[in-house]
Amino acid sequence: MTEENISHAKEKIMGMDKNPSHIMPHKLTLDSKIKFRCHPGVSCFTACCGNINIILTPFDILCLRKRIGIDSDEFLLRYTKPIFIQQTDMPGVQIHLTKEGRCPFVTEEGCLVYTDRPSACRYYPVGMADFHEGAQENQDTEKFFFLVKEDYCKGHEEDKEWTVREWRSDQGLDERDDLNKGWMELVMRRKSFGFQATLSEEAQKMFFMASTNLEKFRDFIFHSSFLKIYDIDSQTLDEIKTDDIALLKFSYIYLASSLFGTNELKIKEKKIKERVADISNKQKNAEKNAEKVYEELKREKELLQKQLDEKNKV
Ligand code: SF4
Ligand code: SF4
Repeated sequence: MTEENISHAKEKIMGMDKNPSHIMPHKLTLDSKIKFRCHPGVSCFTACCGNINIILTPFDILCLRKRIGIDSDEFLLRYTKPIFIQQTDMPGVQIHLTKEGRCPFVTEEGCLVYTDRPSACRYYPVGMADFHEGAQENQDTEKFFFLVKEDYCKGHEEDKEWTVREWRSDQGLDERDDLNKGWMELVMRRKSFGFQATLSEEAQKMFFMASTNLEKFRDFIFHSSFLKIYDIDSQTLDEIKTDDIALLKFSYIYLASSLFGTNELKIKEKKIKERVADISNKQKNAEKNAEKVYEELKREKELLQKQLDEKNKV
């Protein structure tokens, strides 16, 4: 793996918006060993909690706003700023740093939301990349890990040795990745489209709402025409009414279906019939209009011919 490839792949990971020169050009596997330990005794404690772009996944937002005890609206307003996710036209949010450039959750004693800290913070300093050549959908992707080594981070000088697998398990990353997967797949899929086909403003708003504000998304499902259009089984409906994780997973399915036309969500038979009837009516009207225009042109031509004939007689 060349350094150039790693820096390309880095663009596909969460939150590690760091200088590529600090990424070690070694491809790591789950069994690779790393030496690292971060604890309040290190001289650089919390040095990494500033001057960084921490992109929040939908699950990060859910965990953080619950931890703080506020709703999504207030959380988004107080702690985030809107962004476009790198190389896409998909809107998202990142943590809004203080005017000193520090994370609003950091104190001298450490992270105030440690057990609910975002995925990007858990990844540091072991990045993961989902790398695939070209832009073909469903193409095999290659997952690998790499180490981010910055001069100020003294954790690399500690004696603790572990495998990447042990490190990830300690950081709770397997569960996080599982819950972030649907969102990551949407972003990756969008990236593979490039900017040739931009998302409509309506689609962007829907993506933003469903991936940052689950309360609003729930309200949209139960208080709009949504349930008149989609055929959702009663068990799923019961779950998403009260269970935020079920709703989060459902939002990924809904977004994949509405943005990329996947067929995991069934549209009601009646709606399909109405749509077909609508298209057929539009087609019939278009044909009628075309016939009308043709007849008018024919009449005009005949009139002109008549006028010409009369002129020739004179
Ligand atoms: S959330 Fe916690 S770990 Fe992450 S940057 Fe902020 S203070 Fe540091
Ligand atoms: S050791 Fe590294 S990760 Fe830990 S506080 Fe210091 S800079 Fe941050």
